[in-house]
Amino acid sequence: MTHPAHDLLTALGVSLPDGGDLPVHSPIDGARLAMLRSATPDDARAAITTAHHAFLVWRDVPAPRRGELVRLLGDELRRHKAELGRLVSLETGKILSEGEGEVQEMIDICDFATGLSRQLHGLTIASERPGHRMMEQWHPLGVVGVISAFNFPVAVWAWNAALALVCGDPVVWKPSEKTPLTALATQSLLARALARFGSDAPEGLSQVLVGGAALGEVLADDPRVALVSATGSTRMGRLVAPRVAARFGRALLELGGNNAVIVAPTADLDLAVRGLVFGAYGTAGQRCTTTRRLFVHESVADALLTRLDRARASLSIGDPLATGTLVGPLVDEAAFGRMQAALSRARGDGGEVSGGRRMLADRHPHAWYAEPALVRMPGQTAVVREETFAPILYAMRYRDFDEALALQNDVPQGLSSAVFTNDLREAEAFVAASGSDCGIANVNIGTSGAEIGGAFGGEKETGGGRESGSDAWRHYMRRATNTVNRSRALPLAQGVRFDV
Ligand code: NAD
Repeated sequence: MTHPAHDLLTALGVSLPDGGDLPVHSPIDGARLAMLRSATPDDARAAITTAHHAFLVWRDVPAPRRGELVRLLGDELRRHKAELGRLVSLETGKILSEGEGEVQEMIDICDFATGLSRQLHGLTIASERPGHRMMEQWHPLGVVGVISAFNFPVAVWAWNAALALVCGDPVVWKPSEKTPLTALATQSLLARALARFGSDAPEGLSQVLVGGAALGEVLADDPRVALVSATGSTRMGRLVAPRVAARFGRALLELGGNNAVIVAPTADLDLAVRGLVFGAYGTAGQRCTTTRRLFVHESVADALLTRLDRARASLSIGDPLATGTLVGPLVDEAAFGRMQAALSRARGDGGEVSGGRRMLADRHPHAWYAEPALVRMPGQTAVVREETFAPILYAMRYRDFDEALALQNDVPQGLSSAVFTNDLREAEAFVAASGSDCGIANVNIGTSGAEIGGAFGGEKETGGGRESGSDAWRHYMRRATNTVNRSRALPLAQGVRFDV
């Protein structure tokens, strides 16, 4: 019997091999979707060689023309949003509207990058020397290696690839070994865009390496990969970053988060509950920006936690493709095991746990559905300071705003944060230099669900990278400072004299 995923793959232009070493399962029911062949490290090196040759051609194609390719990719994504969105849901277990939302995010970044292709601007700088002009140009950088995580299997590639392609850089992509099918489908849509684009696109502008960490290591080590953009756990970042640094390559790291929300006495509790429920339990707690910690003022704690727990208990958990489902499965058994281990540590620290049980085990013995958990913690213990990639929200009470802010910052990660308050001073303090130390700091909206227009990423163990909007494109280019002398003299800077 063929799986419905096969029809989607056919519609998206992907034909599966007859066999292979890499099984791909759907977290929805544990069904095997495909067996794929992993690439070898030699295949990875060959892909980098092809990409490098592509770079030598692509860097000279005018940027607005490169933008045309990304525009065509956006067209293909618009046309196939439903199929690719459904495949994202099948392969990751996220609910259908989030699967489609992920494809919409790809479309948005394509639009953004297409416009950007006419705005890759440098500066003209006043020279201190007469008859001289100084300017800064941004040139294509080289091959970009993208390592991506399972939970945003295609949007993260698009954030990188749309910018890289307009900036003049080919992309070699190593998707998560848990989600290679959506990667193959995306690559197929790009192939269609390339077919419509014309002959000035070199072969190997975009390649996919299906397989595990060893392929990511090749990208990290190869000096021809000018930028390694790696998204995943902090554990992975710790392994990849020193390898890239050892060869003085560039790394853009998007690693784990441990995101907090502060709910202040003046907060609109309706907004806060909605923001917290989506932030903590949406995507089954498997977003890098998932809300994992809550600091609630003691004056509103009982009211908020009662409502939050009621909302938590009412969430419909089940088939992410079914209408009305809000929480799908965890990605695999190991993720469920980590959730249980964290909950038992929290209990050991005096935490009171609501929820957290396995669900739907009778119907889906090979899938891992979990009831979202709310844990009332006496304080920010070690387990709270770690990222557990599951729907667990640790709630703590506070008395003093500065104390809550200090606790929110007192974790190794620095991705996303939010405050719910109607006190202008608190709101401004939160986004000030001495406020939240995260890459994302929001007021009266939750921690997750970023738009592509802003730069995305975080500080400390989150890795410091910025992707997507704003001026993140600069990571994908190299800066050249040029001084041009139109005079007949050769004055030296700083008044230095060296007359011969
Ligand atoms: P993971 O770290 O297990 O894997 C991520 C990717 O890294 C995979 O493609 C994997 O094959 C590769 N990899 C693993 N070890 C490697 C090595 N030694 N060398 C090279 N590549 C290696 O992460 P995951 O479980 O797929 O995703 C969840 C994690 O990703 C969470 O920690 C989450 O917070 C993080 N994440 C961060 C962001 C962000 O933008 N900050 C976005 C999505 C996910």
